[in-house]
Order: sequence, then structure tokens, then C-alpha cells
Amino acid sequence: AEEALRQSQKMEAVGQLTGGIAHDFNNLLQGILGALDFIKRRIAEGRIGDIDRFLNGALDSANRAATLTHRLLAFSRRQPVDPRPVEINRLVGTVEELLRRSLGENVNLSVTAGEEVWLVRCDSNQLENALLNLAINARDAMPDGGTMTIDTANKVLDANEARQRDLSAGEYVCLRVIDTGVGMTPSVKARAFDPFYTTKPIGKGTGLGLSMIYGFVRQSEGSVTIDSEFGKGTSVEICLPRYKGNVDDALVDESLGDNRAG
Ligand code: ADP
Repeated sequence: AEEALRQSQKMEAVGQLTGGIAHDFNNLLQGILGALDFIKRRIAEGRIGDIDRFLNGALDSANRAATLTHRLLAFSRRQPVDPRPVEINRLVGTVEELLRRSLGENVNLSVTAGEEVWLVRCDSNQLENALLNLAINARDAMPDGGTMTIDTANKVLDANEARQRDLSAGEYVCLRVIDTGVGMTPSVKARAFDPFYTTKPIGKGTGLGLSMIYGFVRQSEGSVTIDSEFGKGTSVEICLPRYKGNVDDALVDESLGDNRAG
């Protein structure tokens, strides 16, 4: 649980950093748009004598924006991705402990992950972050309280079910975070996975939670899907391929991971 807390503090730091970058990026973009608009009007009026200054300003801002995104990408690459077998129900149990202590009193948490040993192969830190991010979104969607449900299921997806998730048919382990919160309008749902898209106030949302989850699940050959009804609530489901190796692989790998984390 201490490790999970440390992780979540790190995540908060990442969130603040990326939030700051998103803000700077947006300012630069506004400057570029303003300059381009000005240049366009001057060309329309046939007065192009002084547009050089604005072109150079736009170029300069665009270069600075490119430097910012490179820095952000370099930062995210610094966390090495380490795919190995993970026991998903155990990971949910660890995150549950953390959530129980940090959710407000008005949010009722119901975790129905069982004791089954279901293995998936992915980076366990990234999966833990994904679950924490989904739980934070669910909490934020219920300012007046409600119920958050976390469940896991082993699913055999036929060709049709798999196609809906852009997966190939086979056996998956799926993790859902369900809330009884504000829900998404169709237009919010359509943009929810876009990097930097957020409806939260500045300093609260970074707009990177769902896009990072998307990147992580695709890289792990899984899927993430949103089911939401405005005013009723939201369910986000992550499916990852079921790992068919030996459970001992997970235990051995996990003990290695714990040593390195220390
Ligand atoms: P952030 O949480 O920083 O805004 P995300 O990428 O995690 O970034 O989410 C993007 C947007 O999707 C949120 O700002 C919110 O509008 C919407 N959203 C995400 N999860 C939920 C949810 N459980 N209920 C309602 N809206 C949600």
C-alpha cells in the first residue's frame, strides 16, 4: 500500500508537470493562431509590408511548442515499460486499499474482483496507474456522491465482440470501473481519449488520463471502451489478453519487481 501511495504521488507530480506543459502549449498555440489570423487579413487587404514580423513570431512560437512536446515525450519515455505476467485480481486488491483511504465519505466503493488467478501480460505499474486514473475520473464525476464499482471478468470474445473492441477473437481479462456520476454527452465521449482534452478546471484536469490509458492498452494488445449515459453514469472497460503461462512466472517476476522498486 505504501508503494501504491508513492506511485500515486508520483502520478500527481506527472499530472502537475504535464498540466503545466499543456497550459504553456495552449498559450503558444493561441499566439500562433493570432499571428496567422493577422497575416491572413493583411494578405486579403493587400498590405503585406509588415507581415514578416508576425511570420517570424509564429515560427518562433511553433518551435518552442515543438520543444515542449519533445520534452514531454522524453519524460514519459523515462519510465521504462516492463511487461510481465500480472495477477489482475491481486493488483485490484492493492489499489482498493489505497482507494478506501482516499475516497470521500460520500462515495460508496464496491469491489467485486474475486480470488481467481487471472494473468495478463503488461507493465504492472502502468496497469495500476490506469486503474487509479479511472477511479479518480469516477470520483470526479460524482461530486454529490454515488457508487463506484470495480469488477473483473474473464471473457471469451467471439469474432463479433472482438471486432467491436478492435481486437482479435480470444480469451481476455476485463476490468471495469463503473460510476453513477454525471455521465458524458456524446461530444465529450467522442473526444475523451484525445490528449489534453479535459472538461475539468485548470489545475485539476490534465486531459492525459484516458489518452495514456489508450496508449498503454494498445501497446499491451488490449482495448479500452467507454459506455456512458449523460446524467446517469459511466462505465470504462479495459480488456487485456489472458496470459496462458504458468502462475509461477508471475510470482517470480513480481518478487524481482519488488526488489527493484525498493
Ligand atoms: P482528465 O481527467 O484530466 O480531464 P481524462 O483524459 O482522464 O483527463 O478525461 C478526459 C475527460 O473525459 C474528462 O475531463 C471528463 O470530461 C471525461 N470523463 C472521463 N471519465 C469520466 C467519467 N467517469 N464520467 C464522466 N466524464 C468522464
